[in-house]
Amino acid sequence: MSRARHDFDLIVLGAGSGGLAAAFRAAHHGARVALLGEGPLGGTCVNVGCVPKKAMWLAADLAHRMQLAQALGFDMGTTAPALDWPAFIAHRQRYIGNIHASYQQRLDAAGIALLPHRGRLLAPDSVECSNGVRLHAPSILVATGGRPQRPSIPGAERGIDSDGFFHLNAAPARVAIVGAGYIAVELAGVLQALGSQVDIFVRRRRLLDSFDEDLTTQLVEDQRQHGIHTRFDSNLQSLHADASGRHVLRDATGHDSGPFDAVIFATGRKPASDGIGLEALGVAMDPRGHVLVDAFQRTSVAGIHAVGDVTPAVALTPVAIAAARRLMDRLFGGQADAKLDYDGIATVVFTHPPIGKLGLTEAQARLRHGDAVRVYRAGFRPMLHALADSPQRSLFKLVCAGEDERVVGIHLLGEGVDEILQGFAVAMKRGLHKRDLDDTVAIHPTSAEELVLMR
Ligand code: NDP
Repeated sequence: MSRARHDFDLIVLGAGSGGLAAAFRAAHHGARVALLGEGPLGGTCVNVGCVPKKAMWLAADLAHRMQLAQALGFDMGTTAPALDWPAFIAHRQRYIGNIHASYQQRLDAAGIALLPHRGRLLAPDSVECSNGVRLHAPSILVATGGRPQRPSIPGAERGIDSDGFFHLNAAPARVAIVGAGYIAVELAGVLQALGSQVDIFVRRRRLLDSFDEDLTTQLVEDQRQHGIHTRFDSNLQSLHADASGRHVLRDATGHDSGPFDAVIFATGRKPASDGIGLEALGVAMDPRGHVLVDAFQRTSVAGIHAVGDVTPAVALTPVAIAAARRLMDRLFGGQADAKLDYDGIATVVFTHPPIGKLGLTEAQARLRHGDAVRVYRAGFRPMLHALADSPQRSLFKLVCAGEDERVVGIHLLGEGVDEILQGFAVAMKRGLHKRDLDDTVAIHPTSAEELVLMR
């Protein structure tokens, strides 16, 4: 196809983390880029995900620290300090507004055409915008992300999802959270710390099932100490209102729980792959609607690529960004082999305390390496909690494999692990062995030193 036929070199559907990263990197390589995005710039992460969530987590963290401060002798007055939600939300939204402005400036500077429309694929090189304008480009990137999904039980519409959580302007007195994944546990911790009584309803027997089980068991205990009730084996059948209009959850045995002032469904997310013309072009998808891609982010239709939550890859902002950048380096930067290595990606859940994982859990390592696995553990009370006589405990685990004890998994639960894990992710990517940790002099007194002192 001749270049002259196309208005652009690249059309990106979706102005979230993956789409923006792709647009910037492609423009950096000299490509002419059209970026289509209906909603606010930054998509889920910036507007109803990582960024506002971390802001709420920071507020919750301050609430915990004020309790510890009081226990250690600070005079906090007679009533516990309460958060003025509208005031805090104003700070949160101002921060987000600055991100929008910064993106807009960068788009303008890079000469990227931002079109505030939804796009629909007409052909592998052609997109129709919701205002009727048609665009052409030899490369199209689908980066449309995902949205929350609710269980199909009667009354589900009475609850809210994570998007709705960011519209709350006070902590509801009693909250039920349905789900056992990232969002369920993060929102539970935030709301409990900011004044709600939270019950988590889990349909199976554990939280965060992709994380190491020893740590998630300790997390349940840490959350219990904060007052969160976790109800395992809850097979919910319906949500209805009581006489006062509050919410009641009914399980399969007919047992009612509640009443609650808010019910939050944190029951997973679905890819936003519908209504954008993918089926008509024969782009292969899995039964849940994820766009299938190969290691180079290519879909089954030449010229169409996909990154981020719309694909089956782990739904994390930095993963979408990294995949998008490498794809653009390949398409427009002359790096023919550029692709994301999806192994060894660290991830942290912002619970109280946070929990992180890198590499294989103990169970996964034993499946892969059998008896050649050696596990090291450190369970301890971090100094601030020990000083304040608070029961919160940390648990660090190192999973090693082979005679040379290559580190194949690092799992951390405790204060500060969200900041500790990143450096170890670099080390593990370079090939880390237990002896390297033994050779490293500790930084004392810290929680991080436990990782180089395990015996
Ligand atoms: P997750 O996939 O993490 O968890 C979904 C949870 O919902 C699972 O526990 C699942 O249970 C449960 N569930 C699904 N259907 C039902 C049902 N009908 N009844 C009861 N429970 C149900 O999804 P999230 O929505 O929490 O988060 C989406 C993704 O976003 C995460 O996987 C993560 O990749 C990303 N994210 C990352 C964050 C971070 O980096 N800190 C923060 C928030 C989100 P079961 O196990 O039984 O299927």
